[in-house]
Amino acid sequence: MTIGVKKVSLQRTTRDQIFLPAILEGLLTTARHFFKNTMTKGMGDVDTIRYGEPGVDPKSYYPERFRGVHRLMFRDDGSVRCVACMCCSTVCPARCIYIVAEDREDNNEKGPATFVIDELKCVVCGLCVEACPCDAIRMDTRTHMTPTEAREDAVLRKVDLMSRGGPSVAVQGGLGADYRADAPAADPRFVGR
Ligand code: SF4
Ligand code: SF4
Repeated sequence: MTIGVKKVSLQRTTRDQIFLPAILEGLLTTARHFFKNTMTKGMGDVDTIRYGEPGVDPKSYYPERFRGVHRLMFRDDGSVRCVACMCCSTVCPARCIYIVAEDREDNNEKGPATFVIDELKCVVCGLCVEACPCDAIRMDTRTHMTPTEAREDAVLRKVDLMSRGGPSVAVQGGLGADYRADAPAADPRFVGR
């Protein structure tokens, strides 16, 4: 069977080529929303996140599945859960995870000798968290990346990622899709949230 190729041409009208009508249309839409939100509803009723206003805890507005700065989780013995399988660095579309594997001393597993994430390259997609087979990496810190002046300050190393980490209730091998549901009780960082 032969598969044919149908050529189509992009038809642009004069109106499209001028761009001005589209720009004006966008400005009018923006202006309409601005006046609707500020004049008819009043600033206090605008449906948006009030970040950093006095007396307002911005973190209280974060949704449950907010993706914050990465952290590396621990096992019961305090060692990092990561087994350097490279799933996260392989799936990462921004290619901003760098891992060097090493043998663990106590068993046949591997672990990360180096684990680095360049947060300025990260597109906050969360795929690394989804790909991890042992709940070693999370983005549930509920903290934004701290603004930095130098690029190298946004490169988080294993020690930085582990300093944000905590114990994981996940069991190696997995307890099923709901194992994270118990995390708030097990991790003191989230008690009361
Ligand atoms: S959140 Fe996405 S872009 Fe960022 S490190 Fe994970 S996989 Fe890469
Ligand atoms: S964080 Fe998870 S996915 Fe990434 S290398 Fe470690 S075990 Fe594998």
